[in-house]
Amino acid sequence: MSMFEDIPVDVGVVYEGERIRFKDMQVELGGERTDAKFELVKVKGLDEIEDGKITVVGPDIKDMKEGSTNPFGIYIEVAWKDVEKELEGVIERRIHEYCNFIEGVMHLNQRYDIWLRLSKKSFKKGFNSFHFMGKVLQKLFRSELSFIEKIQITFITKPEEVKKMHGEAMKIYEARDAKARGMKDEEADAFYGCTLCQSFAPTHCCIITPQRYSNCGSISWFDGRASARVDPKGPVFAIEKGECLDPFKGEYKGVNAVMKEKTMGEINRVALYTAFENPHTSCGCFEAVAFYIPEVDGMGIVHRGFKEATVNGLPFSTLADSTAGGRQVEGFHGLSIEYMRSPKLLQVDGGWNRIVWMPATVKERVKDFIPKEMVDKIATENEAKTIDELKAFLKKTEHPVVERWKTLPVEAAPEAEEVEALAQPLEIPISGVPITAGGFEIILKDAKIYARKVIIRRVKK
Ligand code: ZN
Repeated sequence: MSMFEDIPVDVGVVYEGERIRFKDMQVELGGERTDAKFELVKVKGLDEIEDGKITVVGPDIKDMKEGSTNPFGIYIEVAWKDVEKELEGVIERRIHEYCNFIEGVMHLNQRYDIWLRLSKKSFKKGFNSFHFMGKVLQKLFRSELSFIEKIQITFITKPEEVKKMHGEAMKIYEARDAKARGMKDEEADAFYGCTLCQSFAPTHCCIITPQRYSNCGSISWFDGRASARVDPKGPVFAIEKGECLDPFKGEYKGVNAVMKEKTMGEINRVALYTAFENPHTSCGCFEAVAFYIPEVDGMGIVHRGFKEATVNGLPFSTLADSTAGGRQVEGFHGLSIEYMRSPKLLQVDGGWNRIVWMPATVKERVKDFIPKEMVDKIATENEAKTIDELKAFLKKTEHPVVERWKTLPVEAAPEAEEVEALAQPLEIPISGVPITAGGFEIILKDAKIYARKVIIRRVKK
């Protein structure tokens, strides 16, 4: 792109989805090794900011130790004639996409969870300052969202500054999220779709409704509407709901049609309020993941920031990998923190009456939205670190799932590795695949296979 002549590395869509491994990175910004990180966009008055200004508060890239992890904040201020605050979240979400256009830059997640890496290769080519990153972002924002008249960017790496602004950013995110609360899906005239994550999850399309926030937790129904208005052909677009096929499951004809189109026919049906039958696809940047715990017939939830193992022995990363990539995996469900505040949260599966375990920090964040009688029945890492401890806790507190145990078949607790394996086969399309047995060819269509254990072996040629 000739537009980026003054940038020492290439910039283009081809670099999207590029992963940078630990050993190949010059520096890491944000990510799970540091608590302080954020990205924030604020809409300002035209006279409040200086167009084109780029500021670095704290050490620049060239001052950082090779292979180091650094606290990091990106603060972008934009202005145009008709100030519309509603677009802040939308502009902010684009930071992810545009950073990934830069050769040798990886950007994952959003808001308070951002994780960036710069490759050694790009650093050696001369990409050694945030000023280059700022210039690329400013050019892309101006060309893609042409209503922006002024844009000023501040990169913050000074630890105390990042921490301070992180606190302010959290308050702003909360205010944005609170806006759509109370609105009902049934009342919305349209839903919104988002394919921003397709570079990492090719068959993912987020369906954003008033009561179902985007998986990443950074695009509300209002954000979707604002984005579709200013950039209708962009990655966030309006969805005509069409006929409601099932109000309880949250299945809509219009949504199914869009899903099919946007995933090239890979996903044909989506039920918005369940983790089991035709669940919503999971991208890779979801804030949390809900996971089925067969031993207690309940659901656990774990968020990205939780560094310990969950109650079934698996950490967030393993559980996330079981469903990421745009797949529909029954029993695993990538979701946002805000969706936990929705009355529709996994309502088909029992909602909060089915949730048995979650980390204390995330429980605290959504506590006011958990039915009062359930709050003390949901275990955290403080009450249960193992399945046995969880079972005892649920029994003691008379959690509603205990009722379900009477109908459960008796089975031994599967090994951790096997739980992982159980999630994998669902990646393999089984519909229409012939099986030969005893001289007959059996073709399974829309079949469901329940397996207790699945062994996957690589076929030797
Ligand atoms: Zn995503």
